[in-house]
Amino acid sequence: MPSLDLCISELSKVQVMENVVIIGSGLAGYTLAKELRKLAPALPIRLLTLDDGASYSKPMLSNALAKGKTAQTLPMASAEQMEAQLNITITTHTAVTAIDTQAHTVATAMEEIPYGKLVLCVGAVPIHPPLTGDAADRVLSVNNLTDYAVLRHALETAQRVAIIGPGLIGCEFANDLLSVGKQVTVIGPGVVPLDRLLPTEAGAALQSALARQGVAWHLGVTALRVDHQDEAYRITLSDGATLLADCVLSAVGLRPNLQLAKLTGLQTARGIVVSRHLQTSAADVYALGDCAEVEGLVLPFVMPIMHAARALAPTLAGTLTAVNYPAMPVVLKTPACPVVVSPPAMDAAGEWLIEYLNGDSLRALYRDADGGLLGFALTGAAAAERQTWSKELPPVLA
Ligand SMILES: Cc1cc2nc3c(=O)[nH]c(=O)nc-3n(C[C@H](O)[C@H](O)[C@H](O)COP(=O)(O)OP(=O)(O)OC[C@H]3O[C@@H](n4cnc5c(N)ncnc54)[C@H](O)[C@@H]3O)c2cc1C
Repeated sequence: MPSLDLCISELSKVQVMENVVIIGSGLAGYTLAKELRKLAPALPIRLLTLDDGASYSKPMLSNALAKGKTAQTLPMASAEQMEAQLNITITTHTAVTAIDTQAHTVATAMEEIPYGKLVLCVGAVPIHPPLTGDAADRVLSVNNLTDYAVLRHALETAQRVAIIGPGLIGCEFANDLLSVGKQVTVIGPGVVPLDRLLPTEAGAALQSALARQGVAWHLGVTALRVDHQDEAYRITLSDGATLLADCVLSAVGLRPNLQLAKLTGLQTARGIVVSRHLQTSAADVYALGDCAEVEGLVLPFVMPIMHAARALAPTLAGTLTAVNYPAMPVVLKTPACPVVVSPPAMDAAGEWLIEYLNGDSLRALYRDADGGLLGFALTGAAAAERQTWSKELPPVLA
């Protein structure tokens, strides 16, 4: 007869083998924990995060000024509240520094933690433009609450704000900064803003709407240097022009955070390469969110995360489930000119057909040779047609 002690230690081993460890407390980590808890009420779930574990809506970082939100008032719940709400264990301010996929453990500075299944939800990191100059290190970027607190602090004394990067996040910040009376300049290499997402005509509509509200555009150029000049910063552009700002914000994009995956020897490309079941190249290790690449797609947006989390939760609970992505249009938070875009796939063959409506309103439909709709961009009042055109789009991943 085995002793009671042995039975208990065997039982705890089984529980440990079945536990789920999630790295990251962003939208991906918390959405997965919520979905998994619904399906597996008793499953031990442990979440480790570098930050303070506050649950907040990251998209609100670029329209929080207009809403009067600070880094303190943006969170919807603290780590303690999330622990109680989801019945999980959360360890904050802790970096996972290594993963042993053979031993099924993750390491932090303090401990080694066994996992049954491990999920990397480690997000993306800002790309830093290659700037020189004695104030290049004073350029801000905003990708989390701490960054946002730093920006809010800088804005207490800054009136002129220069944004490097006229993409989605740069344009949203431009609009948000206008809403609190800042003088905004946006710098970027394209002929219009958002030229990687929008057809030129739609980018031009957004550009002129924001210009009418006060944005000064420096397009067709890049920022080369940022130097101190008295209390301000002098930015030197690639065409030789210079401009002054009290605060410089970089929004040139994000790239998947691959540090831990590379250290572990997981397969990576643009993101951490995962299957349709969100599994990495190592058994029992999964990845989700801004860090992951599913069938060549890196989609750093909210909707793909929701779909992926809803597929991974049943897989982790025992029912293998593949992720499918429907069409997922992106809505820009630019009240000066509402924009909704569902860009065609990179390899799509077709052309943009543009219809100008009133004012800044424009309907751009990307159709193939047979007339099939493969993408769209809607600006101004036409943005209200989002549902109509979304229904016609093919899924992103069927
Ligand atoms: C300003 C801004 C506006 C946006 N607006 C929109 C929008 O309007 N619509 C939309 O669809 N999307 C938008 N997005 C994108 C969307 O917010 C992201 O796709 C999403 O929040 C990413 O969530 P995530 O959990 O994958 O990553 P993150 O939120 O970045 O979370 C990563 C987590 O991993 C932790 N971590 C990293 N490394 C480690 C480690 N080694 N050990 C422990 N923990 C670690 C971090 O602390 C963090 O908790 C916006 C993004 C930004 C920055």
